[in-house]
Amino acid sequence: PELATTDMLQQTIKKFGDHKAIHFYGREMTYKELGKQAEAFASRLQEDGVSKGDRVALMLPNCPQYVISYYGILQAGGTVTQVNPMLVGGELEYILNDSGAKTIVIYKPLLPVLNQIIDQTDVEKVIQVSLGDETTEDDLAVEFTDYIKQASNPPNPVGIDPEEDIAVLQYTGGTTGRSKGAMLTHRNIVTNTIQAYEFFKDEIEIGNERSLTVIPLFHVFGMTSGMNLSVYTAAMNIILPKFEIEEVLQTIKNLKPTSFPGVPTMYVALNSHPKAEEYGLDSIKICNSGSAPMPGELMRSFEAKTGAKILEGYGLTEASPTTHCNPMFSKRKPGSIGIGVPSTDYKVVDLSDGTTEVPYGETGELIIKGPQVMKGYWNMPEETADTLRDGWLYTGDLARMDEDGYAYIVDRKKDMIIASGYNVYPRDVEEVLYEHPAVQEAVVVGVPDEYRGETVKAVLVLNEGQSTTEEEIIAYCREHLAAYKIPRMVDFREELPKTNVGKILRRKVREEMA
Ligand code: ATP
Repeated sequence: PELATTDMLQQTIKKFGDHKAIHFYGREMTYKELGKQAEAFASRLQEDGVSKGDRVALMLPNCPQYVISYYGILQAGGTVTQVNPMLVGGELEYILNDSGAKTIVIYKPLLPVLNQIIDQTDVEKVIQVSLGDETTEDDLAVEFTDYIKQASNPPNPVGIDPEEDIAVLQYTGGTTGRSKGAMLTHRNIVTNTIQAYEFFKDEIEIGNERSLTVIPLFHVFGMTSGMNLSVYTAAMNIILPKFEIEEVLQTIKNLKPTSFPGVPTMYVALNSHPKAEEYGLDSIKICNSGSAPMPGELMRSFEAKTGAKILEGYGLTEASPTTHCNPMFSKRKPGSIGIGVPSTDYKVVDLSDGTTEVPYGETGELIIKGPQVMKGYWNMPEETADTLRDGWLYTGDLARMDEDGYAYIVDRKKDMIIASGYNVYPRDVEEVLYEHPAVQEAVVVGVPDEYRGETVKAVLVLNEGQSTTEEEIIAYCREHLAAYKIPRMVDFREELPKTNVGKILRRKVREEMA
């Protein structure tokens, strides 16, 4: 579609202006109000000199001001630069300098973090967002609500070329290396929202849905599946800044969301809550799970317990993010990421040449082509050329495809363990571990080994009240796995390190081992 991102909001305001757009701790805002505030913000940004293509940093937890700022920056013609609110020091400085942002919208308690590095950046204007729980005082920044109140004129219209103009600079999580700014155009973002809608549309009634968004909006999954899909479908977006299990369950009980995009670790937490069934999780029609593999056993148990359906999908920052999902309208295959969303081509290619398709069932690299694929990495021509080849996005994920076109992620190219010359995919081992009754979470990594090169190690979190031993786990794996895949060592932990989207940080676990 030839739409700018803000057109999605404008369309919804036209038809559903009085519908509730946002629910945040009992406070609500209609689409008309959201539109007005975004417009006021756009107008103030323009008065302060923000013009087309200028990067404006957004460093906020999930809150209404996030949505207002996002749409306001875009209406002013700016590029939203997503900044993870957990970044500190050099990481934050790097993103601010790499993007060249001169303006930042920031959660007030984070000001001390910004102030430590602000002199090393080009940031001139700081707009702070208070959510009523702040203790820090800072007079240098202007308060968001005061800032938008001063708007007197509507913003100047900005001509947007959806195919060329960058709506969002979305920095990659950096789980595999230096964080890169994926340039997502307006077309990328609008299309991916519509692709998700088209895929789920049998279950979506425009103007009548409620989404529970607890996945972070600064991450591409939350941005598209939590925020933009809600705007496009005129849904009420119930926003929570943190995944606190009791609060999430209570919110589901009180507000009866109809969709709940989440990551597997969230479904693990809901599934292992002793009273989850009592909260009426069956109001949720769509649990679209992405970001990390969904263990088959978890899916079965969650669905049996709650009546909610999990649709596993797949995506990555560079594809805005969704490229695959299990269909609602056809067979869902546990363990698979499903088929391509509309207008998306994909192939599994031989690792040695990167172009020859491998036969069904064989493992290779998953590559993708579609209108949601980024324009490239900001200021990184070499990395761009490496990742985008002949219009194909090289995902760095190993996958196989079955004869129905369903894809299965085998693992990340970089996570593969080579033990005694055999390729071990951590995921195969983790799937087996998840089926053990005492195991709540499992991660498998390779650790250096003099004889084998690498050896397989499992790190486990057990279900509350359960116990087991290293020997017992190894004996259990021996029954279910080929010898070279069996973990030689097992560690038990209270919890596993996770990214702020809730993805298990395999790199961190590996570093701890080293
Ligand atoms: P970086 O790209 O910097 O390493 P990241 O892992 O946080 O950081 P994202 O773009 O957030 O980057 O995540 C995309 C990756 O997540 C995919 O390449 C894939 O490895 C993994 N992923 C996403 N969905 C699934 C899924 N359903 N099953 C398995 N892996 C998945």
